[in-house]
Amino acid sequence: MTADRGTPHVHIIGAGLAGLSAAVRLAERGHSIALYEAAAQAGGRCRSFHDAKLDRLIDNGNHLMMTANTAILAYLDLIGARGGLTHPQAAVFPFLDLANGRSWNLRPNRGPIPWWVLDPKRRIPGTGVLSYLKGLRLAFAGSEDRVTDCLDTQDPLWRCFWEPLVIAALNTPANEASARLLRHVLAETFAKGEGACRPLVARHGLGPALVDPALAFLQDRGVAIRFNQRLRRLDTTGRRITALDFPNQAVELQEQDWVILALPPQAAQALLPNLAAPLDHHAIVNAHIRLPKAPDWPFAGAEGPVPEVPFLGLIGGTADWLFLRDDVVSLTVSAASRLAERPNDEIAAALWSDTARALGLDAGDQPPIRVINEKRATFAQTPAALRLRPAPRSAWDNLLLAGDWTDTGLPATIESAVRSGEAAAKALTLP
Ligand SMILES: Cc1cc2nc3c(=O)[nH]c(=O)nc-3n(C[C@H](O)[C@H](O)[C@H](O)COP(=O)(O)OP(=O)(O)OC[C@H]3O[C@@H](n4cnc5c(N)ncnc54)[C@H](O)[C@@H]3O)c2cc1C
Repeated sequence: MTADRGTPHVHIIGAGLAGLSAAVRLAERGHSIALYEAAAQAGGRCRSFHDAKLDRLIDNGNHLMMTANTAILAYLDLIGARGGLTHPQAAVFPFLDLANGRSWNLRPNRGPIPWWVLDPKRRIPGTGVLSYLKGLRLAFAGSEDRVTDCLDTQDPLWRCFWEPLVIAALNTPANEASARLLRHVLAETFAKGEGACRPLVARHGLGPALVDPALAFLQDRGVAIRFNQRLRRLDTTGRRITALDFPNQAVELQEQDWVILALPPQAAQALLPNLAAPLDHHAIVNAHIRLPKAPDWPFAGAEGPVPEVPFLGLIGGTADWLFLRDDVVSLTVSAASRLAERPNDEIAAALWSDTARALGLDAGDQPPIRVINEKRATFAQTPAALRLRPAPRSAWDNLLLAGDWTDTGLPATIESAVRSGEAAAKALTLP
């Protein structure tokens, strides 16, 4: 259907995953909506673009999801795009320790009882059963506890499992990160067994997998999508939003109209100065390296064929994760606020060195590298910040909030963004 549905009743501001998730739910219900985005493209912190230096489509950063992310999968089913994500046949996370060359596969087993920790061949090298049992301390984490209050940082499991997990899942150093939030991640993933832990990766990039099909779904339903529209001001009368001010247009709201603000916390707070929001943040740095040709992937385990988009966890270097898409290697460093302050050529050199060591390439021949420095990748997921996460309903009767930073109970991830958009769409009552 391409017909215009008349005056929009729901104005969604922000076309990241939270805004797109709200939009597709409401479009499915037949509501008339308009979507406004400040940038020239949708996707926000989860986007793809053609990079002229590498002459390849690249993502702003590697994004790893898991089969536990049921909201993402439901979103993809709704827009008919489940095929954009791929996962290996089983949950296998290969790791390499660059400090000593040791490699292993983290392989949780089926079902909720983690018997794999009883098998010395499946345990992480240097760890014993006791290392894993100590993790049970997380079950008793208080609301103010940080991860390092609950876990033994001297145990060999710390460096090879807990610390990389905290950094990847919470993008916050472990001595700041909320222990309860980490417990929640474990409850949704490892505690459910292998089936919930299969790593989901965008086959051809984030835009083609998660963003473009949503835009097509919305366009097919006559939704107006307005790019280069940065909301500058919200006008209010009493407890209602009455107008939206964009650079080239002012939108007067009717009595029955709603607004969903699906913005990053800093942008939401700039528009609503009294809004309590978690504003401290951490960076994620990514580097994309175009190799002269696709290299062999040396980490195929005994668990099956090399996945479509192979990836590797790295310990003891600068990078945390390495992904390979044909001839492009992409590396991620999370909780990287200090690294993000260094010049790009230094970052590129450090990440190329990790790549050459991991893939056995000649380190002397540095290929073209694009560094992408997302300084505000996510909010700092500390106990204090979690208390500032707002519910979808705001102090204004016709304004709802969405975004990965709102109170979804999850870390600031795509799953959180998608769930927040769903929650906002659900909270809205229209004639
Ligand atoms: C490098 C990187 C790696 C990541 N890795 C992972 C990962 O591995 N797994 C995972 O699940 N998550 C990951 N994340 C987090 C994930 O990308 C975010 O949680 C998610 O994309 C947030 O979506 P959102 O819609 O809440 O916010 P955003 O994506 O920030 O969307 C907000 C949108 O609002 C727009 N906007 C801002 N101000 C205005 C305004 N005034 N008017 C109109 N529009 C405005 C912005 O341009 C943007 O498009 C990563 C993030 C980064 C940056």
